[in-house]
Amino acid sequence: MDCIFCKIIRGEEPASMVYEDEMVLGFMTPHQFHEGMCLVTSKQHIDHFMDLPEDVAVRIIQTAQKIAKNIMREFQPQRVGYVVAGFGVLHAHLNIVSMKCRHDITSKHFAYMGDNGEFQFSESHLPTAARAELDQLAARIKV
Ligand SMILES: [Zn+2]
Repeated sequence: MDCIFCKIIRGEEPASMVYEDEMVLGFMTPHQFHEGMCLVTSKQHIDHFMDLPEDVAVRIIQTAQKIAKNIMREFQPQRVGYVVAGFGVLHAHLNIVSMKCRHDITSKHFAYMGDNGEFQFSESHLPTAARAELDQLAARIKV
């Protein structure tokens, strides 16, 4: 399977781990526009979140709640948001968003002016954090 999350789960790609059990894995995302950005994914490769077995979906939410409490304690954002979209990596996951304002969860950090003069939305222009930095952040919110 050529899926980046499956490679991380198999240990073939590096990630800064926040949580792991037999069903789910939590790790830092490479784009830290606010400290604490991470995600929780199923260990089984399933595309749509709605198709996850119920116990796996519950475990993802439970894990995200625990991680969010640690994000609040360590980084004091205004709120911690949760996003399931699934356009980036086609492997069900819950994004955990450290939010300093209401637009952190939608478009603010993802919007940029494209070469054609139209607004584009992507994370490709966001800086990628170094592994050592991600490891340090992960250590602070690990559950
Ligand atoms: Zn996968």
